Amino acid sequence: MTDDNRNPRALLVEDNPLNRELATDLLEVAGFEVCVASTGPEAVEMACLYRPDILVLDIRLPGLDGLGVLRDLRNRPETCAIPVVACTAHTMLGDEQKYLFAGCAGYIAKPLDTRTFAILIRGYLEKNRG
Ligand code: MN
Repeated sequence: MTDDNRNPRALLVEDNPLNRELATDLLEVAGFEVCVASTGPEAVEMACLYRPDILVLDIRLPGLDGLGVLRDLRNRPETCAIPVVACTAHTMLGDEQKYLFAGCAGYIAKPLDTRTFAILIRGYLEKNRG
């Protein structure tokens, strides 16, 4: 359970610097504390250290792709319950189902919609808190 008196913490995993900057800004404006990682292995390390309330995960990443990161997080007791929102540009029919089936709490297609991105992330966070 999270303390409602503090800002929610998001770990943003994104290897593209421009997308990373945009998503960070949008989340911070919406009241999130944001920590960033730019590779798969770094994402797993940061998730263990930072214990985010939600993890926003790019799928195409160097080192270990997003689904590999998700598997790794799910296998660790300290990170297995963190909700993960997949965020990817390869939006083919069936992609959303694929990521949800893999265990993601949600799915957001790129390019990011600046009006809705942070609202969607907060929605997935609230939904996960029940
Ligand atoms: Mn990428």
